[in-house]
Amino acid sequence: MALEHSGEETKTIKTQILVAGAGSTGVAAALAFARAGLKVTLAGRFPPPLPGRTVALFEASLRFLEAIGALARVREKACPIEAIRMIDDTAQLLPTPDLLLKSSEIGLPALGINISNDELVAILLEIARERQAFEIVEADIADYVFDGDGAVALLADGRRIEADFVVAADGRQSRARAVAGIDTREWTYPQVALTMLLSHEEPHDNISTEFHTRSGPFTLVPLQGREGAPHRSSLVWLMSVADASRRLAKPREELEFELEDRAHGKFGAMKIEGGIGQFRMGGMKVSTHATGRVALVGETCHVFPPIGAQGLNLSLRDVADLEDCLASVDLSNPHELGHALARYDRHRRADIGFRTLGVDLLNRSLIVPQLPVDLLRGAGFVIMTALGPLRRAMIREGVSPHLLLPRLMQERAPREGGARRRRSA
Ligand SMILES: Cc1cc2nc3c(=O)[nH]c(=O)nc-3n(C[C@H](O)[C@H](O)[C@H](O)COP(=O)(O)OP(=O)(O)OC[C@H]3O[C@@H](n4cnc5c(N)ncnc54)[C@H](O)[C@@H]3O)c2cc1C
Repeated sequence: MALEHSGEETKTIKTQILVAGAGSTGVAAALAFARAGLKVTLAGRFPPPLPGRTVALFEASLRFLEAIGALARVREKACPIEAIRMIDDTAQLLPTPDLLLKSSEIGLPALGINISNDELVAILLEIARERQAFEIVEADIADYVFDGDGAVALLADGRRIEADFVVAADGRQSRARAVAGIDTREWTYPQVALTMLLSHEEPHDNISTEFHTRSGPFTLVPLQGREGAPHRSSLVWLMSVADASRRLAKPREELEFELEDRAHGKFGAMKIEGGIGQFRMGGMKVSTHATGRVALVGETCHVFPPIGAQGLNLSLRDVADLEDCLASVDLSNPHELGHALARYDRHRRADIGFRTLGVDLLNRSLIVPQLPVDLLRGAGFVIMTALGPLRRAMIREGVSPHLLLPRLMQERAPREGGARRRRSA
C-alpha cells in the first residue's frame, strides 16, 4: 500500500480495492472492505461541512456500524429515535388520524438514531486513522482507465492508483461512473429542502415528527441535547423554490416564529442553531450498478428526496451487499467477478427501485392536490392506524428491509477475529 520508491513508480500506489470518494458511504465502504481482509485505499476530496444536515440511521444500518466497530462511538453523539409520528397537514377533505410507528411494536428499544452528518463522517475517519485500516489519499481523482485486468485512477496531483477493483462512492456527479460508461436517468422535483438544527422549549420524547404538507414533509428529528439546550431537533423542510428564497431572506426571528407555527406549537418556541442548508430536490437512477472493474455505491447510483430517511440507509446496504457479493471472489478472474457483479446489480435494482418508487409516490401524492390522490393517501393512514399487523410490517420494512440482508447487517455483534478468508485477489 505504501508508495513505490523508484523512478516513475514513486507516484504509484498499488492496492486491491480503491474506494473513490470520502463521503459517509465511501468511508464506511473502506472500513467494511478493510475489515474483510482486503488491501484498501480510500481516495477523495474531503466533504465540506453540511449545514444543519443530520442522518437518521435505522436498525440494519446500526448493525452495519456495529460490524465495522463504529456503533459505540456513533451512539455517544446520537439521539435514539423511539417512534415516528406522521401527521397529515394537507387540510384534505378526509379527516386523517395521526400515524404513530413505535419501536416497541416490533420489540426494539429504538427504530434507529439521528446524528449530524459531519460528526458521522468524522467518527468513521477517526476510527480508520486509529486502526490504520487502510491508506487515505486526500486528493481528487481526475480520471480513470479501466481494462480487463484492473483500473488506474489518475489523481489531480499527478499520482496514480492501480487497483484490482474500484468501489465508486464519488457522489451524484461520479467521474468513475461516467468513465465506466454507465448511463443515468435524472429528474427534478419543484422543491428545495431547507435543513437546520433547532433548540426548542418542549421535549421531543425521542419521537420523530413528520408534518405532511402540500409543499412536502416538514420533519423534526430528535437530536441529542447539549448544555443550555436540552431539547434539540434537526429539521428537513421541503418547499417550493420560491418559498425557499423568501424564507431564507427573512430575519431569523421571523423564521423562528414561522417554524413554531408550522409545528403547531408542539415544541414551544424554537431557536435556529448555526447555518441553514439548502438542497435542490431531484432523483436519479442508473442503467447498471456494476460493470467490468467498478461497482457503484451510495449517491453514485441513487438519488431521491429525503422522505423516510432512506438515502444513507440504502447506501450502507449497497456497501454491505457488495462486500457480500465479492466475498470469496478471485478478483483476478473476470468470469468469477462478472458473476458476482451481476448478482450485485440484481439485488440493488430491486432494493433501490422499490425505495425510489416509494419516495417518489409519497412525495408526488403530497404536492399534487387532487382529490382521488388525497383520498388514497388518507385511506392509507386510516388502514395503517387500524391494522396492527400491517403497521408492524411497515415499521419492519422501514428499519430492516424484507430482502435477505447482507451478512454485515445480520449480526448484532462484530465477529471475532475480523478478517474473513479469501481466495487470492
Ligand atoms: C436534506 C437531506 C437529508 C437527508 N437525511 C437523511 C437521513 O436522515 N437518513 C439517510 O439515510 N439519508 C439521508 N439523506 C441522504 C444522505 O445524506 C445521502 O445519501 C448521503 O449523504 C450520500 O453520501 P455519499 O457518500 O453517497 O455521497 P456524498 O456525500 O456526495 O459523497 C461523495 C464524496 O465524493 C467526493 N468526490 C466527488 N468527486 C470526486 C472526485 N472526482 N475525486 C475524489 N472525490 C470525489 C466528494 O467530495 C464527496 O466527499 C439526506 C439527504 C438530504 C439531501
